[in-house]
Amino acid sequence: MRKVRGIVFVMMDLLAVGLAAAHNINPLQNKYGQDSGMPLGRVAEPVHEEITQLARACMQAHPGPVHTPLICADDTERSIEPRGNKYDSLVRGVWWNDDPNQLLFALRQGRFLSWMHDARLIATTGRNWQGKPAAIGSDYYLTYRSHYGDLQFLHAMASGDGEPAATTRHRALLWAEFAYLVATGRLDPETKMDRISPVELRDYFEEQSGWTINFLFAYHYQLKGDAHKRMMAAGSLLHMVQDSYSAAHAQRFFEPTAECPNGGIVQFHSYTCQDPSAHKREDLRSAWLQRGFTPTQDPVNVSATLLGYIRQDADWNIVRDYLEGTVFCLAEDARNASPGDYAMAAESVRLPAKCKH
Ligand SMILES: [Zn+2]
Repeated sequence: MRKVRGIVFVMMDLLAVGLAAAHNINPLQNKYGQDSGMPLGRVAEPVHEEITQLARACMQAHPGPVHTPLICADDTERSIEPRGNKYDSLVRGVWWNDDPNQLLFALRQGRFLSWMHDARLIATTGRNWQGKPAAIGSDYYLTYRSHYGDLQFLHAMASGDGEPAATTRHRALLWAEFAYLVATGRLDPETKMDRISPVELRDYFEEQSGWTINFLFAYHYQLKGDAHKRMMAAGSLLHMVQDSYSAAHAQRFFEPTAECPNGGIVQFHSYTCQDPSAHKREDLRSAWLQRGFTPTQDPVNVSATLLGYIRQDADWNIVRDYLEGTVFCLAEDARNASPGDYAMAAESVRLPAKCKH
């Protein structure tokens, strides 16, 4: 019994570290009902889930077309699937960016943790868990690539220090367009990944060229119906946008400027040389609630606005202008990616050579 409990505690600890590259999610909490107790229920706070449920309630409270970004007056009303998040396609889509191989969804948490451990070793030391030279390329599992490889734009982060902000934003917008086209039914979920739009995004899925969009979002599991597939994509778009409001992912400014009248982004961060615990603190619920957002730059309002655009099937150009001009508006003096204020300490014995300056 003690051994089992010990394993559980080690897993809890690892899970907390493993989920550090994002606003926290917790697929175990409220999985089979709201406010249900689960053994690992407090490992990670379900921040993405809460933001998403608040946003959906806000969107539903504004039934008309979206002419200007939605401002959500009620920050307590949540739109919740009473059977539990497992049956909530939008929330499942929100989980996907953190867990594209759906390991946290079932009893594969151990594999998730070992992959995350291996991915961090490779990203920081250039060697894998076996001590062999390795680099996370496009042939690695999506879970590796999403957290430590070339798909970090799924979390509104740069794939490495020094990446120009315009590059990170461009990649985020590629994903946003793809997810939006799927969410609005313009892209059939049976489309293969080598036929998707935008064309440039195909480069990231050459190893998955024979996969359908549906398989990409449902590696192991899915719910029935076309609406589920569309909402998975919508959730993935929300995840990326919500992450961009975590200070460990992007440094924002909120004062109006000539190029960004609603504020915007000064710098995207890269996770590789960040201290995971420092990063994690910014992804907590308390950090989300303490950040001084403005009404137009608030992850709940932005998520609600995007859900409103999806509901009304707005033209992608309108959504792109909103993302470029508000959500991901780049400061004129935007800086190349760095760990920001979350860098591993220079004196840390675990500081990877590539992170020394
Ligand atoms: Zn994330």
